[in-house]
Amino acid sequence: MAQSISFSEQVNRYFDTAAALTDHNDLLLEVIQRCNGVYKMIFPLKRDDGSIEIIEAWRAEHSHHKQPTKGGIRYSIGVNQDEVMALSALMTYKCAIVDVPFGGAKGGIKINRANYSQAELERITRRYTFELAKKNFIGPGIDVPAPDYGTGAAEMSWIADTFMAMNSGMVDALGCVTGKPIAQGGIRGRTEATGRGVFYGIREACSYADDMAKLGLEPGVVGKTVVIQGFGNVGSYAARFLHEAGAKIVAIAEWDGAIHNEDGLDIPALIAHREATGSITGFPNATFIANSLDALELECDVLVPAALENQITAENAPRIKARIIAEAANGPTTFDGSQILDAAGKLVIPDAYLNAGGVVVSYFEWLKNLSHVRFGRLEKRFEERAYRGLLQAIESGGSRRFTEQEADLLAHGATEEDLVESGLEDIMVDSYQQIRNIYLTNDGCPNLRTAAFISAINKIVRCYEELGIFP
Ligand code: NAD
Repeated sequence: MAQSISFSEQVNRYFDTAAALTDHNDLLLEVIQRCNGVYKMIFPLKRDDGSIEIIEAWRAEHSHHKQPTKGGIRYSIGVNQDEVMALSALMTYKCAIVDVPFGGAKGGIKINRANYSQAELERITRRYTFELAKKNFIGPGIDVPAPDYGTGAAEMSWIADTFMAMNSGMVDALGCVTGKPIAQGGIRGRTEATGRGVFYGIREACSYADDMAKLGLEPGVVGKTVVIQGFGNVGSYAARFLHEAGAKIVAIAEWDGAIHNEDGLDIPALIAHREATGSITGFPNATFIANSLDALELECDVLVPAALENQITAENAPRIKARIIAEAANGPTTFDGSQILDAAGKLVIPDAYLNAGGVVVSYFEWLKNLSHVRFGRLEKRFEERAYRGLLQAIESGGSRRFTEQEADLLAHGATEEDLVESGLEDIMVDSYQQIRNIYLTNDGCPNLRTAAFISAINKIVRCYEELGIFP
């Protein structure tokens, strides 16, 4: 079966499968499914050598049922209109699944960032922001971009700076973009948020003994063998947290090859190796696999695609040995590939849920920007004092004395980082339970992906019902 349908059609098929299991008004379902608006732009870039190049870019706003809309910006040569539309739809469903009050959006610039200098990337990013602002496609209450494939904190800070320069005096202007550096209104924990959320999602899925028994696996992440495709922001943090929790990362696949060691890779050492050499290749004590895609077919318990879309297709899905496919990337499995994985009894933790950690913590950053105060700033010292008082009261009863270490741990007031981590953990655990319950209680629901879409559709429908437009 060749992969012939577009990414948008693929997302729509997932939507349709879920919609068929609901009894909502057909027209309302169509309103939810269709992309509200796409802005395609073209602008010239003056390169460092003085030559001029045309840059193509997009921003799609899929749904305005909640505002602002929200979604990352990717820099990749593979960017096209269909891709940003599909990704913006996934953002709408993702936000609904994890109860983050945004509509979905996505942006993209069709460039390979490796071909441009820092100064050129800055000019591209600032011009893109200017174009968005001109058309009202950016703003703290309108549309709030974030990092995605090929972008990070530096691009977000250029976006914020350009937007603020164009909107002098707008008190909430910093909330126009998330994923910013801390000194520019960013939030602690955003950089690692998606990878951390991926870890929480996998850990939650592995915690159900019944579900694991069906896969022939023991509950828990300890000792699980894991293969990860993509060692960028999402993949490297997911690897780090899984490694710390006792999972065995047996292979990492990158664009220039994969490395494999069935006894497990030392992830902190691999991160250091990549920082020093710029590549995962050449890492000691690992076998090199030249065709990186082959790594997806290695023997393991959990496969984590964390690079790009369309990596697991009808062609390679029958050869995938992992029992759990944890979709950290957006759209890593094609519709046909997904059906093959289902038929083989695999547990697919769907992208729209699993990689929501980024938008969850982006939501916290946006709230921080609107409230103009760091989380924990007001209550941290008060909490510490109250907890210490409680410990002293217990000690004065004579039944227990606390060591200094115990007292420090128990009387610790929550910092911004603590609150971000616990808020993210709570949302990832709670959302997984919601999806799993729908899967278990909805007759005919074939998998967790469909359950996640049903969860999103039901929540968005409730928004429209409250408007009273549809019967
Ligand atoms: P990134 O640019 O930091 O990392 C991507 C990594 O994949 C890079 O290391 C790149 O070299 C590698 N890669 C590229 N082609 C590859 C190939 N053919 N085989 C193996 N590896 C390859 O991007 P990211 O932010 O980590 O995003 C990865 C995925 O996660 C994307 O699908 C993105 O949409 C999704 N995602 C990211 C976030 C976020 O917060 N960054 C949030 C949600 C979803």
